[in-house]
Amino acid sequence: MMTAAQYEESLRKLNLVVYMFGKRIENPVDHPMIRPSMNAVAKTYEMAGLPEFQDTMTAISHLTGKRINRFTHIHQSREDLIQKTKMGRLMGAHTACCFQRCVGMDSLNALSIVTYDIDARYGTSYNKRFLKYLSFVQENDLICDGAMTDPKGDRSLPPSGQPDPDMYLHVVEERKDGIVVRGAKAHQTGAVNSHEIIVMPTISMKKEDRDYAISFALQSDTKGITYIVGRQSCDTRKLEDNPMDTGNQTYGGHEALVVFDDVFVPWERVFMYKEYDFAGSLVEKFASYHRQSYACKTGVGDVLIGASQTIAEYNGTLKASHIKDKIIEMNQLNETLYCGSLSCAAEGHKEPSGTYSVNTLLANVSKQNVTRFPYEIARLAQDIAGGLMVTLPSEADFRSPEIGKWLEKYCQGSKDVPVENRMRILRLIENLTLGTAAVGYLTESMHGAGSPQAQRIMISRQVNMKEKQAYAKKLCNIKE
Ligand code: SF4
Ligand code: FE
Repeated sequence: MMTAAQYEESLRKLNLVVYMFGKRIENPVDHPMIRPSMNAVAKTYEMAGLPEFQDTMTAISHLTGKRINRFTHIHQSREDLIQKTKMGRLMGAHTACCFQRCVGMDSLNALSIVTYDIDARYGTSYNKRFLKYLSFVQENDLICDGAMTDPKGDRSLPPSGQPDPDMYLHVVEERKDGIVVRGAKAHQTGAVNSHEIIVMPTISMKKEDRDYAISFALQSDTKGITYIVGRQSCDTRKLEDNPMDTGNQTYGGHEALVVFDDVFVPWERVFMYKEYDFAGSLVEKFASYHRQSYACKTGVGDVLIGASQTIAEYNGTLKASHIKDKIIEMNQLNETLYCGSLSCAAEGHKEPSGTYSVNTLLANVSKQNVTRFPYEIARLAQDIAGGLMVTLPSEADFRSPEIGKWLEKYCQGSKDVPVENRMRILRLIENLTLGTAAVGYLTESMHGAGSPQAQRIMISRQVNMKEKQAYAKKLCNIKE
């Protein structure tokens, strides 16, 4: 396994084409707006190296028998799935942001199942190719960006019906040695901190969409791939000389639009090619795993609840019964999220490939709660924090020889609490509920791993309604 320092060095060897504010970023690793997201990924290496977290953060590879980072592991049991949930919460609590590595883990696991299933139907050899790729990822302890979401253009039209055929990533040329692809993947979490990019289709497909039913993996700096980093609320605070104003100086997540401008993929890196009837299955497997992965939000919730309790102490409001009750409410919501992620793991099952998959219904119910509860937890945190969270002057004003004394005097809460501590915790709550981290904690909770309606459709498909009706009818003696 790599250390955090080795990971950082490995990124420096890549030659990614990254753009931000209309300019090419030659050195993304050290860019002040990207570096916190790199730190969050690096934490997945650091934590895996700590003996106290070994059971959660590492696993034994079923391919090599060696100890590997759990983020590169293929789940071999329900216990593996449960440890995955625990790992998400642990990492969320230690970074208070999106640590980006789950998408790669979820892509690898979904592909381990679907490549096997395609081979079983068509006699292809995708699974063998995939396992070779997997051992390369495990041996080198790599970060993979799992790239699923296409720009999608006109949502009422299928991939093959779009006026612009590139709205979904597709194959444009077939060669002896591989394929050439064109298109883009949107909202790519952690893309510029990744060694590899694993592309998958984003929706179920029909025969006419077969050029879009492709999956493959490439090194992230392959010729023709461009990364355009997305903006986040309050992002340029990271460029200022007021580190406290960022709320979380060390960690952050980020997303990018990834453009594939006629990129060559060798056959040995292709894991699905025009088997359009398996596109939906790959989407569903990945989505279910990633909906489980949202245990990360429970970890971030732990931080926000801790921050809320702290600001209540600093404000002198902790004894008020409604404040205590609000904190209880936050905990109840946060633990409910944890229950959901754990339950879909505990009810997991073995796929024909041998990989353990989560319970699809429970994973979707869990993610549906994730689209709501963090917003309510954030609302309660803002209620407890008070308005100062959004009217607090900058760190520079506190340091000012002219006006600093006024802020020290009028921003005082409980008398024994230094004003600086009050300012720091308010900025953390601001960061999590309104700032850069709100991208991960709120909007990503809404739309990441599929928007709310996607889960509702899956819930309606997965529940056994006939069985429920039979129970009801039997109990009241209905005979039809
Ligand atoms: Fe992982 Fe959560 Fe980020 Fe998704 S949002 S990549 S599950 S940390
Ligand atoms: Fe996500």
